[in-house]
Amino acid sequence: MHKFAFSRFEPLHLNGIRPDGWLQEFLEHQATGLTGNVEVSAYPYGYRFWGSQEDDLKGSYGTWWPYEQTAYWIDGALKCGYLIGDTELYNKALSEIDFAVEHADEDGFIGPEHMREKDRWPHAVFFRAVLAQYEISGDGRYLEALVRHYRAMPHPMGWDRDVTGVEILLALYRETGQSDLLEMAETLYARFNALFPEHDCALQTLASDKALTEHGVTFNEIAKLAAMLACATGKAEYKDAVVHGYAKLDEQALLADGLHSCSEHIRGKGARELHETCDITDYTWALSALLQATGEARYADRIEQVLFNALPGAITKDFRALQYFSCPNQVLATSTSNHNLFMHGLNWMSYRPDHEVQCCPGNVHRAMPNFVSRMWLRTPDNGIVAALYGPGTLHTTAGVAETPVTVTARTRYPFEQAIEFTLEPATAATFPFVVRIPAWCAQAQMLLNGKAVETELTPGTFFTLEREWQAGDVLRLELPFTLQLHTWEAGGISLSYGPLTLAFPIPTHAEVEGEGENSTTQQRQATLGEGYEARPTVSKPEFPAWNLTPAGPWAYALCVDEASLQNLRVEWNPQCQDPFDAANPALKVRVKARRVRGWRTVRQKHIRQFGHWTEAGEFRRGLRSIEGDFTFTPPLPDPQSLADRLSDEIEELTLIPYGATLLRLTVFPQG
Ligand SMILES: [Zn+2]
Repeated sequence: MHKFAFSRFEPLHLNGIRPDGWLQEFLEHQATGLTGNVEVSAYPYGYRFWGSQEDDLKGSYGTWWPYEQTAYWIDGALKCGYLIGDTELYNKALSEIDFAVEHADEDGFIGPEHMREKDRWPHAVFFRAVLAQYEISGDGRYLEALVRHYRAMPHPMGWDRDVTGVEILLALYRETGQSDLLEMAETLYARFNALFPEHDCALQTLASDKALTEHGVTFNEIAKLAAMLACATGKAEYKDAVVHGYAKLDEQALLADGLHSCSEHIRGKGARELHETCDITDYTWALSALLQATGEARYADRIEQVLFNALPGAITKDFRALQYFSCPNQVLATSTSNHNLFMHGLNWMSYRPDHEVQCCPGNVHRAMPNFVSRMWLRTPDNGIVAALYGPGTLHTTAGVAETPVTVTARTRYPFEQAIEFTLEPATAATFPFVVRIPAWCAQAQMLLNGKAVETELTPGTFFTLEREWQAGDVLRLELPFTLQLHTWEAGGISLSYGPLTLAFPIPTHAEVEGEGENSTTQQRQATLGEGYEARPTVSKPEFPAWNLTPAGPWAYALCVDEASLQNLRVEWNPQCQDPFDAANPALKVRVKARRVRGWRTVRQKHIRQFGHWTEAGEFRRGLRSIEGDFTFTPPLPDPQSLADRLSDEIEELTLIPYGATLLRLTVFPQG
């Protein structure tokens, strides 16, 4: 069963995995929200590309991006529909997969002709969905179609992302064992390294101490390939380089909600650094590859942190609107509040169903289905790994005799501090069952059938319990959360509680964006003039774009340090229905705070913007000056003068899980 000799953990097929509880509800929100109504995200959504042979839809002939973007949606919608049993959603995505596979060229090539010689990157995105359908159905036709495609012709290497075919080739090698696929993968990877030796993701650069400057999505899509190759080949050079590369990413760019800065390139750790929503999906998928290659618990800890904080923090909780860029500190999110230099002053931080660049409105559908698909892994000796925690069920086989086993995780984690695993082997069977002790948990405890397991549970490790399991055995893992203080640039501090980042939900005035108020559309109209043609879209009033502005005070410094941390009390809310509901959150932490005088939003009439536009029919990209009336989230106040600006009065702030917030302060000055 364990296919890659060198991986510490192996992924399991999707067809044995089911979510439950809040995870199921989250995916149901996707289905009734954007995932099931993707046409409201505007062109190319609502159009078939992979599921059609018309190659000239709305003037996109010769371009790759509608194939990338719609493939993101197909992958997310297929997995989401399957996991929650929504056959309509599942079949909608499947029909595109089946069409593409059934309409392969005679030599096996799948997809539009113009992507034969270049731009194979969208293939990697789409083929992840085809592989998922193989995992769901067990139908070898899907594997054969992909193998034929790759054997049809040498893989081109026109630009860096063409190398992402390595991920698919390795998945095909894992499933078929045919060694030419591994050779193709290694050859393709070697060509990338030879062509782009200075690239952040080239093996030698990953292993070096060069600071990272790469595009976030590109980094995660390419860097992780070394982890996948390590699993397939056992070569230490692959593993060592990618581990070093991701350690650099942490050190340079980690933000308080678990994701690294990427706007759209990797940057620093400031409180105003942003991340692109695509990277929520791509970073966590990459970390799962590192987890499989190394067996190190810290990658799983981080996946949870991103999925429980950064993901819900970048979307409205009904899954009907998302940000392109989101930020730990966002005092406002409007049609002009994007404070990133790239597309500065436009609506890229507003919660909306569509965006100027449509990658994120596709990629956002994949994050949670992918999380669910990697909750359970397998050990080399056919044991079961509970890698990522949440409510759900696994049907698999385990042990030497490959005994059928059902494992159920009963929990509301991370809105509860324990997980109860019930194991149901078909007959008594001996196999390892592996659980993760998160690095933040110093007091973990384990009870087997109600009796404490006397053992050392070391934070930041996986713990293996190998025994003969009987039907109905219950392993209860208690993971008491503790409050932790984190320090950031410019004297900033933030708080976390177990896997949850805490944030202050800024009182919010919410307005629906009116017709014709889409700032990127206005800018396109202004630069294109008569050449402007509106993107086809299907507007639905229940999927609005939002302008969110603060409706109350927010400029607070937290009066917390390591010593006073232990005096804080966490109030759990047993009445909480939806853990991401800010009005009724899963927990609250009351913290003393002082207002900071003069710390206010930044008003500007003239800004510099790095962007793209069209002028006299020419596509332009670069820096330019823009005039308007802009308001932005401010940087943290200068720590040198902070003491003089603090109010004498001490107030009490209520912090809640970051994922429940829209406007928020996460990184505070320390008062
Ligand atoms: Zn994106």
